[in-house]
Amino acid sequence: MSTVPSVPNGATCATYEVLAIRFAARATTRSSLFLNHHVYGPDGPMDMDFFLWVARNRERTVIIDTGYGQAARQTTRLPRTELAEPVAALAGLGVHPQDAPMIIATHAHYDHIGNLTAFPRSEIVIGRAEFDFWTGPYATRQLFAHTTEPGDLAHLVEIRDQGRATFVDQTTTVAPGIEVIPVGGHTPGQLVVSIATATGRAVLTSDAAHFYEEVELDRPFAYLTDLIGVYRAYALLREMAAEPDVVLVPGHDPDVMRRFPVVDGADGLVVRIA
Ligand SMILES: [Zn+2]
Repeated sequence: MSTVPSVPNGATCATYEVLAIRFAARATTRSSLFLNHHVYGPDGPMDMDFFLWVARNRERTVIIDTGYGQAARQTTRLPRTELAEPVAALAGLGVHPQDAPMIIATHAHYDHIGNLTAFPRSEIVIGRAEFDFWTGPYATRQLFAHTTEPGDLAHLVEIRDQGRATFVDQTTTVAPGIEVIPVGGHTPGQLVVSIATATGRAVLTSDAAHFYEEVELDRPFAYLTDLIGVYRAYALLREMAAEPDVVLVPGHDPDVMRRFPVVDGADGLVVRIA
């Protein structure tokens, strides 16, 4: 096993250093990002970032999502700027497939499970409802399918068949200090990840809230499977954020890069959440 560099000295095995890696960006509009945006007011420009996350201490490294992969890079999708290749960015932080880090797949959209093939020995944690939906009869309907890559979904089945999938259907501690909370809404098995840190808890909302604005103003994102579930998840996230020493980290908000300190030596693409 290679040793993981730069784990903070203060971290004990029950708490983690948490990093957010920005690997792509898109300049778009508010009406493209919020459901029925005209309800709120006029359109305008809005930026969207793409992230994956790492939680680690001396004993353990957990990757939360893996970005999008080669297939998504080649298909015609809305224009994005590629800033880093996710697996290379992880390697730059000392996170390597041969160490078989646990991976939490927060949901099965293309920009979150695109590089699972790079981690052939890792345990993959995913919502039971997520797996069932994307291997079920509605996954191929166009308005759902366009947010996924068929190869990624087929690979989830291989992971299940290899016995590497851990399915969760309720709040579950998947490693000491790391809890996954199935909230649904955005997708049927969307997970929120709550991580113990030296200063409290980091709550990675992933796409339960792409932007701070969703939680703060109760404004659903454009793509979802269940609107009531989305509103319910926002209520839960507001409740969690009201707890002392909790930091909320949305899944696609460029403000994350401004709210948290940039990690040296990573091209300005990595911030330390805790
Ligand atoms: Zn996403």
